[in-house]
Amino acid sequence: MGIFHQELSQLEEAGLYRKLKELRSQTGPTVIVDGKELLMLSSNDYLGYCSHPAIKQAAQKALHTWGAGSGASRLISGNTAIFRDLEKKIARLKGTEDALVFSTGYMANMGLLTAVAEKGDVIYSDALNHASIIDGCRLSRAQVEIFPHRDTNVLETLLEKGKQFRRRFIITDGVFSMDGDLAPLPRMAELATAYSAQLIVDDAHGTGVLGSHGGGTAQHFGLEGQVDIIMGTMGKALGCFGAFVAGSSELREYLINRARTFIFTTALPPAVIASALEAIDLIEREPLKRQALWDNVLFFRTGLNDLGFNTLESTTHIIPILVGDAHTAVRLANDLMEEGLFIQAIRPPTVPEGASRLRTTLMATHTKQDLSRALAVLEKAGKKYNIL
Ligand code: PMP
Repeated sequence: MGIFHQELSQLEEAGLYRKLKELRSQTGPTVIVDGKELLMLSSNDYLGYCSHPAIKQAAQKALHTWGAGSGASRLISGNTAIFRDLEKKIARLKGTEDALVFSTGYMANMGLLTAVAEKGDVIYSDALNHASIIDGCRLSRAQVEIFPHRDTNVLETLLEKGKQFRRRFIITDGVFSMDGDLAPLPRMAELATAYSAQLIVDDAHGTGVLGSHGGGTAQHFGLEGQVDIIMGTMGKALGCFGAFVAGSSELREYLINRARTFIFTTALPPAVIASALEAIDLIEREPLKRQALWDNVLFFRTGLNDLGFNTLESTTHIIPILVGDAHTAVRLANDLMEEGLFIQAIRPPTVPEGASRLRTTLMATHTKQDLSRALAVLEKAGKKYNIL
């Protein structure tokens, strides 16, 4: 018995044990797990770009031209020219002056927050922000004030009380990753201006899918140019990997000099950068893909609600189905897998105690037939487990 046995047993008893599932096919609307085809309702590949031929081709070409790896961090010798092309393209997509690529979203949030905020500063953070924001806040050594989810009244009270801090930041997910609801960005932008705070939006899930041109949550609200700092990822709607922070040119320079997760890590492989470049081109060229996603979202959410499922406040492509108890959520997800649906159960600490759920995510490449089948399977399982 090893030194972690007791902790692992406790997790098992609480229904919180996590296990990896092995896919034997590329990511797409259907996948092969344990030799069986499953409908994928748990992927962030919202536009189906993971398997898009043009993106795969761009990666192949870059692999040929630039090689498999970058060889060093960007500040040492890993800064191939296409990084800059991508950053300019991201800035255009986001309506900001400039952008800086990071290796992952997790590292972008950690690097950003630890660079911009320090002792004597304050970060106001939504209670349901992503783990990478929570960790970045902790590591920054700034004062951290958590406000209840989407509660701009409490946020204002905290801003009013916190005038002594040197630099002030408000940070929120644009689309909340486990709830699928949107941050009240218009009010937050007003408050940021009124209280001289910097507004930071983590747009991991909005980038590429929200807004008239796929620009993300700020564009959706008509707030382009009014969010000081936007973090986004390339591993979700863009179908590849990596992340960025978009904002002013000064911020970019500052992060190159101060963000430890940028400075002390190997640059992304050039093929990933080329994939992201192609993905942003496609986002600009393929508005119908976004439309297909939103049609699917409406169809599926309406179907779930008509059946009586509680989808919380979701208005986006992330649609939670509230279950409550962690054990039930796991059993339900296992049953669904048996019935051909790949849907993950999300449990504490990712979500609050008693709010375990199935988290479904939609793709532009799902068909209505797929989704109707999923609704029928969910109805049966929902009745069996008394959540309907
Ligand atoms: N922020 C949010 C809101 C996320 O959902 C995620 C990924 N799940 C991240 C940041 C981290 O991004 P990455 O997967 O690129 O590390």
